[in-house]
Amino acid sequence: MGGKIVPARARSGAEIDLIAFKIIKITQPEVLQEPQPFRVEEFFEFDMEDMTGIRTNYDHLPPGIHGVTDSERMTSSVEIGLLSDSNQLEFARSTIAHECGHGVIHVPEFRSMKQVLRSIQDTDDVQLKMYRKEQVPVYRNPEWQAHRFAGALLVPETTLRTAWVKCQDVNRLAQIYQVYPAFMRSRLRALKLVD
Ligand SMILES: [Zn+2]
Repeated sequence: MGGKIVPARARSGAEIDLIAFKIIKITQPEVLQEPQPFRVEEFFEFDMEDMTGIRTNYDHLPPGIHGVTDSERMTSSVEIGLLSDSNQLEFARSTIAHECGHGVIHVPEFRSMKQVLRSIQDTDDVQLKMYRKEQVPVYRNPEWQAHRFAGALLVPETTLRTAWVKCQDVNRLAQIYQVYPAFMRSRLRALKLVD
């Protein structure tokens, strides 16, 4: 499988945070009032199709692939097995949010460039791919951008900054936002709240 990464337009973290912020404001504004989980399944199943025209579903994907977003077919799928396993709830949520990032940011971009991104496939080694030497710069890496988007959607900066002042407990915060602790740490680092 392995295909190479097609670079996206350069985007800063703040720019991506703003895209997610606007989506939350339109779809689930209460999430910006106090720390709570963004209902990402609801966004994926209903709102994203309205906003982007992308058809979304849960499906059986090949082993090791958690999500696939296809700019040509205008589809986005997440592995159905993740949803039926309650131990994987947080991972399922982050995977869905990641595919939403591709759907919202990259599908329109690649279509407008008339450049087919035949498949964006998210496998276990996406993280590794991001750091390979010959890689595109991180700010142009669609995987980094989708990861940043997922963080911004599930853990909005506004409520996190307030919550972090009151409670610097990563595990507790992860529970509140329904993300896994490593995901929360990554978000805290992205916002430079921790080193
Ligand atoms: Zn991806």
